[in-house]
Amino acid sequence: MTERPLPPRTRGVIALLEANCTVCMICARECPDWCIHIDSHTETVQQEGAARPRQLNVLDRFAIDYGQCLYCGICVEVCPFDALHWAPEHDYPGTGDNAVAELVHERVDLGKWVDQVPPPPPLDAAAEPAPEAAPGRPSRGAPGTGTRPGALSGRTRRPGG
Ligand code: SF4
Ligand code: SF4
Repeated sequence: MTERPLPPRTRGVIALLEANCTVCMICARECPDWCIHIDSHTETVQQEGAARPRQLNVLDRFAIDYGQCLYCGICVEVCPFDALHWAPEHDYPGTGDNAVAELVHERVDLGKWVDQVPPPPPLDAAAEPAPEAAPGRPSRGAPGTGTRPGALSGRTRRPGG
């Protein structure tokens, strides 16, 4: 039997772009199945030139239990920082006696899927230009989100930001 190619926006697995995650917990709270597990702690950092130290959330654990996941996509939709993305990989069944446990993907596993996240579909050539792209609008000095390539460069937070 010939394998048919998967559609580019297939909901296979959820990739975590950890550099974008601020540990805001929105995805975990909105997940209807409570299958996102996040642990974190807070650190106080003094940045050069800053008047006061600031509190920073540091991620200790981010895991998704695919044994429970509904593949509804709510977590991907609600993440305000584009840290979660669908990737088309689907060949990750649990095996043997540990089948159920293996369906819990920890942050390292979720991070590995980032390379498989496809670029966004091209913009509609007939669409109205976005207000941000209006001529004369001052540049913010960073690449626009519409230019996101497959590697998701330009979407990561600045170090310490
Ligand atoms: S796809 Fe749905 S069920 Fe699965 S982790 Fe995200 S919000 Fe939860
Ligand atoms: S993945 Fe997104 S929604 Fe979830 S904790 Fe990180 S920043 Fe918040």
